[in-house]
Amino acid sequence: MIRITDIIDRISTYHPQADLDLVERAYIYSARIHEGQVRLSGEPYLSHPLEVAGLLTELKLGPVSVAAGLLHDALEDTRATIEDLTQLFGTPVARIVEGVTKLSSLEFRSSEARQAESIRKMILAMADDIRVILIKLCDRLHNMRTLQFQKEKKQTKIAQETLDIYAPIANRLGIYWIKTELEDIAFMYLFPHQYREIASHVAKKREEQQEYINTIRKIIQAKMAEAHIPCEVQGRHKHFYGIYQKMMDQNVDFNEVYDILAFRIILDTVPQCYQALGIIHSIWKPIPHRFKDYIGIPKPNMYRSLHTTVIGPFGERVEIQIRTKGMDRVAKDGIAAHWQYKEKSVFDQETGAVFAWLRKLVEEQKSLKDPDEFMETVRIELFPDEVYVFTPQGDVLALPKGATPVDFAYAVHTEVGNQCTGAKVDGRMVPLKYELKTGQRVEIITSPNHHPSKDWLNFVKTAKARSRVRQHIKAEERKRSLSLGREMCDKVFRKYNVSLNKYMKSGEIEKAVHELGYKTADDLIVGVGYGKVTPLQVVRYLLPRSELKDEKETVVKRLTQRIRKRKSTSGILVKGLDDILVRFAKCCNPLPGDPVIGYITRGQGVTVHRTSCPHALNMDPERRIELEWAPDTKELYPVRIHVLCHDRMGLLANITAAISQGEANILDAKVNTRADKRADCYFTISVSGADHLENVIKSVEKIKHVIKVSRLVA
Ligand code: MN
Repeated sequence: MIRITDIIDRISTYHPQADLDLVERAYIYSARIHEGQVRLSGEPYLSHPLEVAGLLTELKLGPVSVAAGLLHDALEDTRATIEDLTQLFGTPVARIVEGVTKLSSLEFRSSEARQAESIRKMILAMADDIRVILIKLCDRLHNMRTLQFQKEKKQTKIAQETLDIYAPIANRLGIYWIKTELEDIAFMYLFPHQYREIASHVAKKREEQQEYINTIRKIIQAKMAEAHIPCEVQGRHKHFYGIYQKMMDQNVDFNEVYDILAFRIILDTVPQCYQALGIIHSIWKPIPHRFKDYIGIPKPNMYRSLHTTVIGPFGERVEIQIRTKGMDRVAKDGIAAHWQYKEKSVFDQETGAVFAWLRKLVEEQKSLKDPDEFMETVRIELFPDEVYVFTPQGDVLALPKGATPVDFAYAVHTEVGNQCTGAKVDGRMVPLKYELKTGQRVEIITSPNHHPSKDWLNFVKTAKARSRVRQHIKAEERKRSLSLGREMCDKVFRKYNVSLNKYMKSGEIEKAVHELGYKTADDLIVGVGYGKVTPLQVVRYLLPRSELKDEKETVVKRLTQRIRKRKSTSGILVKGLDDILVRFAKCCNPLPGDPVIGYITRGQGVTVHRTSCPHALNMDPERRIELEWAPDTKELYPVRIHVLCHDRMGLLANITAAISQGEANILDAKVNTRADKRADCYFTISVSGADHLENVIKSVEKIKHVIKVSRLVA
């Protein structure tokens, strides 16, 4: 048990002028009123407010908060009154304790609507005085740490509530260490089996992993020392619940979660962060799509850091966060980092600006008379990545932001998804790609003979819908390829006066099946349909050599015709034909709007090049095919750009910000500094088309000290 002297010592180290007398008096009073009370653990009750006060000092809060922490259960569990507290400790302490007490008396029930109502009250309390919530979070953390003394039923209830309400609030306030500890303890009680499994896996590999952490750390430190950048490198585990969520999201088991370790580089200045990023990317190859610049564009909870994932020395994925010491403090303590040393019950300018969302909520509270409407706003703010919709029976389903009626249908049941033909939202018909919003009532219209469509893959958001649609399409494709392959074989076989059916029935076909590396006759025929094997190849294994004529020419011709008729597309139209199998050439990365030309490959559909691409100029004219872009495609395409600029501090941040503001994703970034104080920056970004790219290039060119921006080919 922590002692009051420890608490007072801690406060005086970070807040030398603090009114320590207030804390001491609060302690003596608390000890008196809780005297004789015992916790379920058998410890004197006083241990609880003391531990809570101790946690508050870990957040480096001032004497008013700590005193309120010591007294937080006074109004609820003892005969002390609000008047007593006001008189003895002043209005601020009394009001905070009152706020905490009001929150404690809330009944948190499982129903979604009531949960939202509870959150609403928390948000209001928070806006009134953020310290109320900070104390409440520390209170909950200590209660979670001592949850083993509760009865099992209560354990589950409290753990669930922690996961539903307290952890998201800690997250929204950016208090990372509280959020992760709350999640891990809740996880342990709610999913004990999965928790133990992860814990034992992690323990088993501890030694091996420590060695690995040391290796990576040494490499980074050596490279940073070469560049004369002082830094601290940390390696650690992700928290167990984080690993569990990864396993669930990616639908993999523990051994397939490669990035359970994460590394952190802590530096002094922002430019050093970008330099460090450059160094990391020069040692190890970055993985596209995984680079995030939260320094240029901080998260709403004030979190700032550069994130990247690279292929490490053993071919493994390594997740690296790069940030300054100040950013590191905010990353751990969140809003409390801004609160430290200050004791104000209203927001100062800095905190207020960052937490504009909170004020916005409070203002909305005034204008939104309807509690449902208010709850909706709160939910969106607290769980920005989710929408909540209702089934016709009134059940709530949580879906990722941007989810469509198809996602909803698959969330209800796979068969509902597969047979879904239409949807009604709040009683009105909507298109299947309609974006659902929180609070809407969704009704799915099904028809027993309906099947999922490939187009759905362009708009579904949930993993379940995506994998089910794919599964169905694969089965359909196989069916189609089987009949196509059969047809192709029949035609060629007829030329030799033999019959595929006969070979199938007699089992003679097995010879070809085996020789061509297939498992069953059907697989072989499907292979023919896909264009992987030609019917002529099949015949060769079945007929004596003497009966074979040279048919190669016509077979190639027929095959190309087949390819032209096959389906599958991404944003490209072929003149005079429907859909064909299309791939984009990596050498020139064509974008919608670029003039393009197609090249018919053997068995793999058509490759699209820009007409200006050197490879396109060299290709066999017989295999060329004219292409056109489909109007309004929704796909994103990668493209490489080169930015030549003067080497000035913070310029990289400006460039990445301009690219992000142009709504293009940065997939990869590399910087080389030249001897002449100029720098070459290479970015891979994803854009929707040539016009979009043009706009991004223009806005980067506008930045001071940028000399030239160009698109890279080959
Ligand atoms: Mn308490």
